[in-house]
Amino acid sequence: MKRILVTGGAGFVGSHLCERLLNEGNEVICLDNYFTGKKQKIIHLLDNPYFELIRHDVTQPFYIEVDEIYNLACPASPVHYQYNPIKTIKTSVMGAVNMLGLAKRIKAKILQASTSEVYGDPDVHPQPEEYWGNVNPIGIRSCYDEGKRCAESLFINYNVQNDVLIKIIRIFNTYGPKMEPDDGRVVSNFIMQALQNQDITIFGDGQQTRSFQYVSDLVEGMIRMMNTEDSFTGPINIGNPGEFTMLELASEIIDITGSKSKIIHLPLPKDDPTQRQPDITLAKEQLNGWEPQVPLREGLTKTIAYFDQLLKDGDV
Ligand code: NAD
Ligand code: UDP
Ligand code: UDP
Repeated sequence: MKRILVTGGAGFVGSHLCERLLNEGNEVICLDNYFTGKKQKIIHLLDNPYFELIRHDVTQPFYIEVDEIYNLACPASPVHYQYNPIKTIKTSVMGAVNMLGLAKRIKAKILQASTSEVYGDPDVHPQPEEYWGNVNPIGIRSCYDEGKRCAESLFINYNVQNDVLIKIIRIFNTYGPKMEPDDGRVVSNFIMQALQNQDITIFGDGQQTRSFQYVSDLVEGMIRMMNTEDSFTGPINIGNPGEFTMLELASEIIDITGSKSKIIHLPLPKDDPTQRQPDITLAKEQLNGWEPQVPLREGLTKTIAYFDQLLKDGDV
């Protein structure tokens, strides 16, 4: 049995990760300040004596003894990370310093949830890990992009300078049950709109692309990455190479839900990347043949069922 700390554990991805790690027989400590996370997502784990929940902000030092750390604390939806951009930077940068300082002191292995956003609006397509990215350092997304880029630099330098065992994964757009219905990300927005026969809000002409990964594929990739040999640090892309325009996503969701929603177009937010697709050659090689198992339609169907139930239960 390992003792594992998950920061951001009450969030969308973190809650799935905590559940999976507990099911595998580990002791899990979930740390969260509930900025975008909710107790509700992990409430069913509270009865488990091997699960512990701690309210804490990663920008503050934290002392504990664990074997492994998954550092996920950071808002991920543009709406949330732009709400208080300075706090977003502090969370990424000071959070990384504190968790790396902790890992160094207790000799724990630490995995960083980085992002495809480090590639910015990419001019190399699909994106391999060697690509350095095309990020606007002063744009509205920079609090997130540059915060995550600085965190990657901190991780690599703690590894080189202080021998901390690190793992960096670059996560591409991930969706699934337990996303917040009002989170602002495209999958939850479109599904909530479709289920309520409201207009589907496409930003811009809808020709921009994203590659959507179902959450269980991400969690599998994260755990496999944590278990790679010590010399392998990444960064490594974890995403589903299936690439879709926002118009294609909207019509798939309308089709599955049988919705009467109409598509409307709203202005495209500034610096919105035009395309995004992971090159997962490295992940397949290094993570024992890992590759996404859940195609978009199957994952959307499960996610739609989750949001449908929330609406029926009046939980939104
Ligand atoms: P989320 O917003 O649902 O979860 C983030 C969690 O971190 C929340 O529970 C939030 O309360 C917590 N948090 C935020 N600031 C904190 C702080 N200062 N101290 C402690 N806790 C804090 O987002 P998510 O989709 O679950 O993303 C999890 C991680 O994965 C994030 O680091 C995100 O950047 C990364 N990621 C996610 C995606 C995706 O598509 N879901 C893509 C790329 C990267
Ligand atoms: N830290 C922490 N928990 C620990 C050890 C360190 O939160 O168990 C934080 C502490 O705030 C420290 C930071 O991690 O400032 C970086 O630690 P490091 O040892 O790298 O540098 P220091 O600032 O102590 O010289
Ligand atoms: N988007 C959209 N309608 C929405 C929300 C988002 O068309 O209601 C678009 C957004 O402009 C972007 C894509 O969907 O091009 C993905 O947006 P999201 O916020 O989910 O993630 P990110 O931009 O960080 O990849």
